[in-house]
Amino acid sequence: MARNPHRPFHPDPAQMAVAPAVSGNSINGLGEMDRRQPRMVYWAPDPDDIPHGELQRWFYTVEPPDPAMATARIERRKLTAMEIPEVTGDPAERTPAAWTEELQRFVEQGLCERIGVAEMTPDWVYEGHEVRQSRIVIAGVQHDYEAIATAPEWTAGTEVVRQYGRASLVAKKIAAWLRLDGWPAEPVTGPMTGAVTMIPPAIACGFGELGKHGSVINPEFGSSFRLSAVLTDAPFEPTPARTFGIDDFCQSCRVCENACPPEAIAADKQTVRGQEKWYVDFDKCLPFFNQTYGCAICIAACPWSRPGVGLNLAAKLARRAERTGS
Ligand code: SF4
Ligand code: SF4
Repeated sequence: MARNPHRPFHPDPAQMAVAPAVSGNSINGLGEMDRRQPRMVYWAPDPDDIPHGELQRWFYTVEPPDPAMATARIERRKLTAMEIPEVTGDPAERTPAAWTEELQRFVEQGLCERIGVAEMTPDWVYEGHEVRQSRIVIAGVQHDYEAIATAPEWTAGTEVVRQYGRASLVAKKIAAWLRLDGWPAEPVTGPMTGAVTMIPPAIACGFGELGKHGSVINPEFGSSFRLSAVLTDAPFEPTPARTFGIDDFCQSCRVCENACPPEAIAADKQTVRGQEKWYVDFDKCLPFFNQTYGCAICIAACPWSRPGVGLNLAAKLARRAERTGS
């Protein structure tokens, strides 16, 4: 195994000086046997609302060596703040399948690369928040692989910010379309998503499976993408979940574990709020993440993220499953 060039990692004492006493893993419910709603651990719209708020502020004090990241952040904030029209007229009527079909035009227009819909559940709403809408539309935008492969350099972080900008724009466009068709709709943009967590609905609506590195993986983009969402009551037909054997693949792959500088990625699944799942140690990940403009090494290193590789891997796993009848 090649030596990890980022180990050993020593967190900046200035960063650790603002770390809270409470563990992010406790906030996330690591080791808890009972199901409960998630608690917001990071990326709070108001950092004062979370124990790790000072660390969230610290993230933005790390100066990239190039103005491109600052420019991308300004652009993302503009898109996130973009006004959209009020709800107009009576709600348009379509069949649930036709509503969902209409969403493909946002992919065709190049505003996002994948889109899906899930029926909303309180399990995806942060404690203390309420979501009344019945549907969550999830849009995915793909990173430029060459840029993300430079992680943990500022160029990868800048690509992440750019894609969050694109993700914000498509969420605004979808919400604007729905409102002009008479349906209330609220865009949810990242990374500060407000009331909802986006990974579980993304998995539910066909974006793929949870990988060992804690991000969603699919054969088309690997885990090299960002998400945004729209909450609405427009009667979209939910899109089905998709599995490709990725969960199983992760059992025997150690690429992200070995690539992660602070060794935050565990070899085995853990119990989190009553569910056995892949889990990244928040307390170990965050200091490196904060010092490297959002890190992204695990996303870049994952074999599924390499262009063209994911589809071949999925085809191979499908052939193996057919042979073995599993
Ligand atoms: S983002 Fe976190 S988990 Fe992923 S490689 Fe970086 S430090 Fe490790
Ligand atoms: S690098 Fe390997 S173990 Fe990690 S998420 Fe990707 S496939 Fe799974």
